[in-house]
Amino acid sequence: MKSALRLLAVAVTISGLALVAYTLATQLDRVDWTSPVFWVFAACVLVGELMPIKIPRQKEVIWVTVSGMFAFSLIITFGIAGALVALVPASIIDDFISKKPLWRWGFNAGVYTLAAGAAGGLLSALSELPRQSDPTHFAGSDLIVILLGGLVFFAVNWCLAGIAVAFLKDVPVFTTLRSNLGLDMATDGILLSLSPLVVAAADRSLFLIPLLALPMLAAYQAARVAQRNLGLANELREQADENRHLALHDPLTDLPNRSLFHDRVGSAIAMAGRNNHGVSVVLMDLDRFKEINDALGHHNGDSLLKEVSRRLVSVVRASDTVARLGGDEFAVLVPAIAGPESVTRVVEELLRAFERPFELEELVLNVEASMGLAIYPQHGLDSGTLIRHADVAMYASKHSRAGYEVYQSTRDEHTRDRLALVEGLRKAVVNGEFALHYQPKVDVATGRVVGVEALLRWYHNGNFVPPSLFIPLAEHTGLIGLMTMWVIETVARQSRTWDDSGLSLNIAVNLSMRNLFDRGLPRQIGEAIAQRGMAPERLELEITESGIAADPIRAEAVLADLSAMGIVLSIDDFGTGHSSLSRLKRLPVDELKIDQSFVTNMVQDKSNAAIVRSIIELGHNLDLRVVGEGVETLGALAQLRAFGCDIAQGYYLGRPLATAGFLAWLESYSWEAKTLEGDRSYAALRPIMGPEVA
Ligand code: C2E
Ligand code: MG
Ligand code: MG
Repeated sequence: MKSALRLLAVAVTISGLALVAYTLATQLDRVDWTSPVFWVFAACVLVGELMPIKIPRQKEVIWVTVSGMFAFSLIITFGIAGALVALVPASIIDDFISKKPLWRWGFNAGVYTLAAGAAGGLLSALSELPRQSDPTHFAGSDLIVILLGGLVFFAVNWCLAGIAVAFLKDVPVFTTLRSNLGLDMATDGILLSLSPLVVAAADRSLFLIPLLALPMLAAYQAARVAQRNLGLANELREQADENRHLALHDPLTDLPNRSLFHDRVGSAIAMAGRNNHGVSVVLMDLDRFKEINDALGHHNGDSLLKEVSRRLVSVVRASDTVARLGGDEFAVLVPAIAGPESVTRVVEELLRAFERPFELEELVLNVEASMGLAIYPQHGLDSGTLIRHADVAMYASKHSRAGYEVYQSTRDEHTRDRLALVEGLRKAVVNGEFALHYQPKVDVATGRVVGVEALLRWYHNGNFVPPSLFIPLAEHTGLIGLMTMWVIETVARQSRTWDDSGLSLNIAVNLSMRNLFDRGLPRQIGEAIAQRGMAPERLELEITESGIAADPIRAEAVLADLSAMGIVLSIDDFGTGHSSLSRLKRLPVDELKIDQSFVTNMVQDKSNAAIVRSIIELGHNLDLRVVGEGVETLGALAQLRAFGCDIAQGYYLGRPLATAGFLAWLESYSWEAKTLEGDRSYAALRPIMGPEVA
């Protein structure tokens, strides 16, 4: 207990005790123990003390008791002693029942004693009250004195209790006193002023006293209803608070969400504008999160996101805001930056959060993030622009792999286009903007068309978007999975149609390296072609050499499954990646496609010709079929044939065409015409370029 409070309690208790002793010694004879009025009043004091009316206010409950009113009635009728013999025991009994600490017993009883003493003293000094004869025949002056006495009774109570509360809560005394004055006056003060009425009524007939119980009961009832309503209101308020919280926070990490982040950036800009400092916004996105999520499952993805959010929060300052904007995108707001050095400080701290590997359930992962930074006012004057520009910078950092980039306006146009493209790509399937073109693959020895390669075409808003642009985009945004399945399904349907019309062609589909992270892919492909009646042997899947090299172990597992299903596997763009030959030997592949960069100009470039020749030899030694793609000239075709290449593909033979175009091409296709075209005949080239091939 605080020393000031202890001092006050001791002082009040001792002076109360002294006053009780003095009063009982000198004035006890004034109490008429035989008077029923005394006992009724004393009983009411006790009941009032034990059953206070609890009036709820916003955060606290105000206790109002009628014991003061009856105690004051006792003072008016029997003097201080009469009041004290009722009030002091009632106060102690109540404190005992409600298990208050011992010092409160003394303090509470002391306060009552001093209040009663002061009021009673005033009454006897200024009037003849209490009067034995005709006690309730109040003169006008009596009433004024009674009101004054009531005021004193109230004031002593209010003062001492207020001071104690102030000491207890450690707030200024004056503040507590003032804050309670209005309410205390309206309750205790008004009750006290009823005392003369109580006395008069009791003097008339004691049976009138129970009538007083009615308004008391009403007050109790009102207080109870108020309490219930307040409880309800609090509940509603809590519910509303929670709803507000949910609407503004990300449920997984409990970080602010995009909308709250927007608001905070807006407020920070408003403040910064007034105080002449900068605001910095950092957007980041985890590299390869989509793959992690797909490969390791959502619960691992979720725990990674939670851990990232914990780390980010731990490296920034309390005044900074870390938010999750969705998916694997996080954002940090630094509301007040002084200069460039504080910007780099933030980014370096954020990068530090990714230094240690992340420990998930049973595996440890290294995760990196790409960050983009935009600063108010240089890079934008409102939250929308600033966040968008941080996003642009983030894309740039993904590209540069520099960890982070600061926004540069010159990059913007390009990136804004990219964002629009991503949106378009998301809807491409639904909008029917995809199409497949088929390019023939021709057996070099016989000229027979053995198959086609299906190449995806995207006509976005009527414009052709090259695969070299949208495929990396699809890989980045995780749309590649859906896209690949669309291609497989379309191809399966096409294959069925061709088969039914007596055209037997293998169809090759390109897989992205990201597809290989999806362990469920083989099953999905199996189901898709089975449903549409395509035999697995008809389907070829092309995976680039670099795609396999990116994660050989995982790629091997998926390839093994696909191969076991009877699907033909091919390594695309061979010669540009870094495959290890020992791995190549192990992989369940059937075909090598020599990268077109070697084939296209092999006639002019002897070293390319040498590479092509070696790859063909290597492939054959490993029992693989070899395809030369990018055949643009008869010369290249002749040379491939001379080197013993199995299959050729390229513009010279046939360009990729939509189904109808391809069928027309097939109709008019003539191997003789192809091989006899040009100045130098196909046959004529043979002796010059290489050994005779049957
Ligand atoms: P790719 O699998 O190596 O496909 C061959 C690319 O070379 C095609 O380009 C084709 O049109 C082009 N080409 C064919 N013959 C010649 C020729 O004689 N000369 C030249 N200069 N080029 C020729 P395209 O259609 O632009 O596709 C580019 C790449 O995009 C493909 O390379 C493939 O990796 C990827 N791609 C295309 N469609 C899909 C798809 O459905 N899924 C995935 N994951 N990737 C695809
Ligand atoms: Mg290909
Ligand atoms: Mg290729």
